[in-house]
Amino acid sequence: MKETLYTIPLNDAFHADDECPFCFIERNLEQNSLDFILGTAYMESDIREATDKKGFCRAHLKQMYDYGNALGNALMLKTHYMRLNQEMKEQMERYSPQKGAFKNPFKKTALTGTQRENAMAAWIQAKENSCYVCEYNRNTYDRYLDTFFYMYKKDPAFKDMVKESKGFCLHHFGELMEASESKLSDKEKKEFCEILFPLMEQNMKRVEEDLSWFVNKFDYRYKDQDWKNSRDAVPRGMQKLHGGYPADLPYKENK
Ligand SMILES: [Zn+2]
Ligand SMILES: [Zn+2]
Repeated sequence: MKETLYTIPLNDAFHADDECPFCFIERNLEQNSLDFILGTAYMESDIREATDKKGFCRAHLKQMYDYGNALGNALMLKTHYMRLNQEMKEQMERYSPQKGAFKNPFKKTALTGTQRENAMAAWIQAKENSCYVCEYNRNTYDRYLDTFFYMYKKDPAFKDMVKESKGFCLHHFGELMEASESKLSDKEKKEFCEILFPLMEQNMKRVEEDLSWFVNKFDYRYKDQDWKNSRDAVPRGMQKLHGGYPADLPYKENK
Protein backbone atom coordinates (compact mmCIF):
# COMPACT_ATOMS: atom_id res chain seq x y z
CA MET A 1 0.00 0.00 0.00
CA LYS A 2 1.27 3.42 -1.01
CA GLU A 3 0.54 5.03 2.37
CA THR A 4 3.09 2.86 4.19
CA LEU A 5 5.87 4.81 2.46
CA TYR A 6 4.87 7.88 4.43
CA THR A 7 3.70 6.27 7.67
CA ILE A 8 7.13 5.88 9.28
CA PRO A 9 8.33 9.47 8.72
CA LEU A 10 4.91 10.71 9.89
CA ASN A 11 5.17 8.67 13.10
CA ASP A 12 8.75 9.90 13.57
CA ALA A 13 7.52 13.49 13.23
CA PHE A 14 4.95 12.95 15.98
CA HIS A 15 7.60 11.36 18.21
CA ALA A 16 10.04 14.24 17.67
CA ASP A 17 8.43 16.29 20.47
CA ASP A 18 8.35 19.25 18.09
CA GLU A 19 5.97 22.22 18.27
CA CYS A 20 4.54 20.95 14.97
CA PRO A 21 4.99 17.54 13.30
CA PHE A 22 4.23 19.05 9.89
CA CYS A 23 6.98 21.65 10.31
CA PHE A 24 9.26 18.71 11.09
CA ILE A 25 8.20 16.93 7.90
CA GLU A 26 8.48 20.11 5.88
CA ARG A 27 12.06 20.69 7.07
CA ASN A 28 13.01 17.13 6.04
CA LEU A 29 11.41 17.67 2.65
CA GLU A 30 13.24 20.97 2.15
CA GLN A 31 16.57 19.36 2.98
CA ASN A 32 15.90 16.25 0.88
CA SER A 33 14.90 18.36 -2.10
CA LEU A 34 18.17 20.35 -1.91
CA ASP A 35 20.17 17.11 -1.68
CA PHE A 36 18.22 15.78 -4.64
CA ILE A 37 18.36 18.76 -6.97
CA LEU A 38 21.89 19.93 -6.22
CA GLY A 39 23.17 16.38 -5.75
CA THR A 40 23.02 14.92 -9.25
CA ALA A 41 19.46 15.55 -10.47
CA TYR A 42 20.36 18.90 -12.07
CA MET A 43 22.39 16.95 -14.63
CA GLU A 44 19.40 14.86 -15.75
CA SER A 45 17.71 16.23 -18.87
CA ASP A 46 14.09 15.78 -17.72
CA ILE A 47 14.78 17.53 -14.40
CA ARG A 48 16.57 20.37 -16.20
CA GLU A 49 13.68 20.71 -18.62
CA ALA A 50 11.43 21.20 -15.56
CA THR A 51 13.77 23.60 -13.71
CA ASP A 52 14.31 25.62 -16.91
CA LYS A 53 10.56 25.98 -17.28
CA LYS A 54 9.50 26.49 -13.64
CA GLY A 55 12.47 28.34 -12.19
CA PHE A 56 12.75 29.03 -8.45
CA CYS A 57 11.17 31.30 -5.84
CA ARG A 58 13.20 33.78 -3.77
CA ALA A 59 13.22 31.61 -0.63
CA HIS A 60 14.51 28.56 -2.50
CA LEU A 61 17.15 30.52 -4.43
CA LYS A 62 18.49 31.61 -1.04
CA GLN A 63 18.47 28.03 0.25
CA MET A 64 20.18 26.82 -2.95
CA TYR A 65 22.87 29.48 -2.58
CA ASP A 66 23.46 28.57 1.07
CA TYR A 67 23.57 24.87 0.22
CA GLY A 68 26.62 25.28 -1.97
CA ASN A 69 27.49 23.55 -5.27
CA ALA A 70 28.06 26.80 -7.16
CA LEU A 71 28.62 25.00 -10.46
CA GLY A 72 25.35 23.06 -10.15
CA ASN A 73 23.51 26.30 -9.38
CA ALA A 74 25.21 28.09 -12.29
CA LEU A 75 24.30 25.34 -14.77
CA MET A 76 20.65 25.36 -13.73
CA LEU A 77 20.47 29.15 -13.72
CA LYS A 78 22.16 29.39 -17.13
CA THR A 79 19.61 27.28 -19.00
CA HIS A 80 16.74 28.81 -17.00
CA TYR A 81 17.95 32.26 -18.10
CA MET A 82 18.10 31.16 -21.75
CA ARG A 83 14.45 30.19 -21.61
CA LEU A 84 13.38 33.15 -19.48
CA ASN A 85 15.09 35.72 -21.71
CA GLN A 86 13.29 34.29 -24.74
CA GLU A 87 9.94 34.49 -22.92
CA MET A 88 10.65 38.02 -21.71
CA LYS A 89 11.38 39.12 -25.28
CA GLU A 90 8.04 37.71 -26.40
CA GLN A 91 6.23 39.41 -23.52
CA MET A 92 7.84 42.74 -24.39
CA GLU A 93 6.89 42.39 -28.04
CA ARG A 94 3.30 41.67 -27.09
CA TYR A 95 3.15 44.40 -24.48
CA SER A 96 1.28 47.59 -25.13
CA PRO A 97 1.51 50.49 -22.66
CA GLN A 98 -2.00 51.53 -23.66
CA LYS A 99 -4.32 50.58 -20.81
CA GLY A 100 -6.30 47.45 -21.54
CA ALA A 101 -4.59 46.83 -24.87
CA PHE A 102 -3.00 43.65 -23.55
CA LYS A 103 -5.18 42.09 -20.91
CA ASN A 104 -3.51 40.32 -18.02
CA PRO A 105 -3.56 36.68 -19.19
CA PHE A 106 -2.96 35.36 -15.67
CA LYS A 107 -5.98 36.95 -14.06
CA LYS A 108 -7.97 33.77 -13.83
CA THR A 109 -5.16 31.49 -12.69
CA ALA A 110 -4.97 30.49 -9.05
CA LEU A 111 -1.99 32.58 -8.00
CA THR A 112 -1.43 33.58 -4.44
CA GLY A 113 -1.61 37.17 -3.33
CA THR A 114 -3.00 40.09 -5.15
CA GLN A 115 -3.25 40.14 -8.90
CA ARG A 116 -1.34 42.72 -10.87
CA GLU A 117 -3.18 45.13 -13.16
CA ASN A 118 -0.24 45.53 -15.49
CA ALA A 119 0.37 42.64 -17.89
CA MET A 120 4.17 42.74 -17.61
CA ALA A 121 3.96 42.86 -13.80
CA ALA A 122 1.52 39.94 -13.92
CA TRP A 123 3.92 37.88 -16.06
CA ILE A 124 6.73 38.59 -13.59
CA GLN A 125 4.50 37.77 -10.65
CA ALA A 126 3.69 34.42 -12.25
CA LYS A 127 7.44 33.78 -12.64
CA GLU A 128 8.03 34.61 -8.98
CA ASN A 129 5.28 32.23 -7.93
CA SER A 130 6.60 29.41 -10.08
CA CYS A 131 9.18 27.24 -8.34
CA TYR A 132 10.43 23.76 -9.14
CA VAL A 133 11.41 23.15 -5.48
CA CYS A 134 8.10 24.40 -4.04
CA GLU A 135 6.22 22.14 -6.42
CA TYR A 136 8.47 19.15 -5.74
CA ASN A 137 8.00 19.58 -1.98
CA ARG A 138 4.29 20.29 -2.24
CA ASN A 139 3.63 17.01 -4.06
CA THR A 140 5.34 14.97 -1.35
CA TYR A 141 3.85 17.10 1.41
CA ASP A 142 0.36 16.38 0.06
CA ARG A 143 1.06 12.63 0.36
CA TYR A 144 1.81 13.23 4.06
CA LEU A 145 -1.48 15.05 4.50
CA ASP A 146 -3.26 12.11 2.82
CA THR A 147 -1.44 9.68 5.10
CA PHE A 148 -2.29 11.76 8.16
CA PHE A 149 -6.02 11.49 7.45
CA TYR A 150 -5.75 7.85 6.40
CA MET A 151 -4.04 6.95 9.69
CA TYR A 152 -6.32 9.22 11.72
CA LYS A 153 -9.36 7.37 10.42
CA LYS A 154 -7.97 3.82 10.49
CA ASP A 155 -5.68 3.65 13.49
CA PRO A 156 -6.92 4.51 17.01
CA ALA A 157 -3.32 4.51 18.29
CA PHE A 158 -2.48 7.23 15.76
CA LYS A 159 -5.45 9.28 16.90
CA ASP A 160 -4.24 8.97 20.51
CA MET A 161 -0.80 10.11 19.41
CA VAL A 162 -2.36 13.22 17.85
CA LYS A 163 -4.29 13.91 21.06
CA GLU A 164 -1.11 13.62 23.15
CA SER A 165 0.98 15.76 20.82
CA LYS A 166 1.84 19.43 21.24
CA GLY A 167 -0.56 20.25 18.42
CA PHE A 168 0.53 22.13 15.32
CA CYS A 169 1.76 25.53 14.32
CA LEU A 170 -1.00 27.91 13.26
CA HIS A 171 0.01 27.57 9.59
CA HIS A 172 -0.24 23.78 9.54
CA PHE A 173 -3.36 23.81 11.72
CA GLY A 174 -4.89 25.84 8.89
CA GLU A 175 -3.72 23.30 6.31
CA LEU A 176 -5.22 20.43 8.33
CA MET A 177 -8.54 22.26 8.69
CA GLU A 178 -8.60 22.94 4.94
CA ALA A 179 -7.78 19.32 4.07
CA SER A 180 -10.41 18.04 6.54
CA GLU A 181 -13.08 19.49 4.23
CA SER A 182 -12.35 16.86 1.58
CA LYS A 183 -10.96 14.07 3.76
CA LEU A 184 -13.61 13.76 6.47
CA SER A 185 -17.37 13.33 6.64
CA ASP A 186 -19.43 15.88 8.57
CA LYS A 187 -19.54 13.52 11.56
CA GLU A 188 -15.78 12.98 11.39
CA LYS A 189 -15.18 16.72 11.05
CA LYS A 190 -17.10 17.32 14.27
CA GLU A 191 -14.91 14.88 16.19
CA PHE A 192 -11.79 16.28 14.50
CA CYS A 193 -12.64 19.76 15.82
CA GLU A 194 -13.36 18.34 19.28
CA ILE A 195 -9.82 16.95 19.31
CA LEU A 196 -7.93 19.72 17.51
CA PHE A 197 -9.50 22.86 18.95
CA PRO A 198 -8.68 22.18 22.64
CA LEU A 199 -5.29 20.79 21.61
CA MET A 200 -4.48 24.02 19.76
CA GLU A 201 -5.86 26.22 22.55
CA GLN A 202 -3.83 24.46 25.25
CA ASN A 203 -0.62 24.46 23.27
CA MET A 204 -0.87 28.03 22.00
CA LYS A 205 -1.51 29.03 25.64
CA ARG A 206 1.51 26.99 26.76
CA VAL A 207 3.73 28.89 24.29
CA GLU A 208 2.24 32.19 25.47
CA GLU A 209 3.15 31.24 29.06
CA ASP A 210 6.67 30.20 28.03
CA LEU A 211 7.09 33.63 26.42
CA SER A 212 5.78 35.34 29.57
CA TRP A 213 8.23 33.44 31.72
CA PHE A 214 11.06 34.25 29.30
CA VAL A 215 10.22 37.94 29.69
CA ASN A 216 10.04 37.56 33.50
CA LYS A 217 13.54 36.12 33.55
CA PHE A 218 14.86 39.53 32.49
CA ASP A 219 13.34 41.03 35.65
CA TYR A 220 15.77 40.98 38.61
CA ARG A 221 13.05 39.54 40.86
CA TYR A 222 13.03 36.32 38.85
CA LYS A 223 16.76 36.26 38.16
CA ASP A 224 17.52 33.28 40.41
CA GLN A 225 14.48 31.25 39.45
CA ASP A 226 14.50 28.37 37.02
CA TRP A 227 14.10 29.06 33.29
CA LYS A 228 11.52 26.24 33.17
CA ASN A 229 10.79 25.55 29.49
CA SER A 230 11.30 29.11 28.37
CA ARG A 231 14.93 29.18 27.21
CA ASP A 232 13.99 28.64 23.56
CA ALA A 233 10.59 30.35 23.86
CA VAL A 234 11.39 32.89 21.11
CA PRO A 235 12.16 30.50 18.22
CA ARG A 236 9.37 28.15 19.35
CA GLY A 237 6.99 31.07 19.66
CA MET A 238 7.86 32.15 16.13
CA GLN A 239 7.50 28.61 14.75
CA LYS A 240 4.15 28.10 16.47
CA LEU A 241 2.77 31.11 14.59
CA HIS A 242 3.60 30.53 10.94
CA GLY A 243 5.82 27.44 10.87
CA GLY A 244 9.51 26.92 10.19
CA TYR A 245 12.60 27.03 12.36
CA PRO A 246 13.99 30.57 12.82
CA ALA A 247 16.99 29.26 14.79
CA ASP A 248 18.11 26.80 12.09
CA LEU A 249 21.45 27.42 10.44
CA PRO A 250 21.42 27.21 6.63
CA TYR A 251 21.37 23.66 5.32
CA LYS A 252 24.62 22.94 3.49
CA GLU A 253 25.98 20.44 1.04
CA ASN A 254 27.64 17.51 2.80
CA LYS A 255 31.03 17.51 1.10
ZN1 LIG B 1 4.01 23.66 11.34
ZN1 LIG C 1 10.18 27.68 -3.89
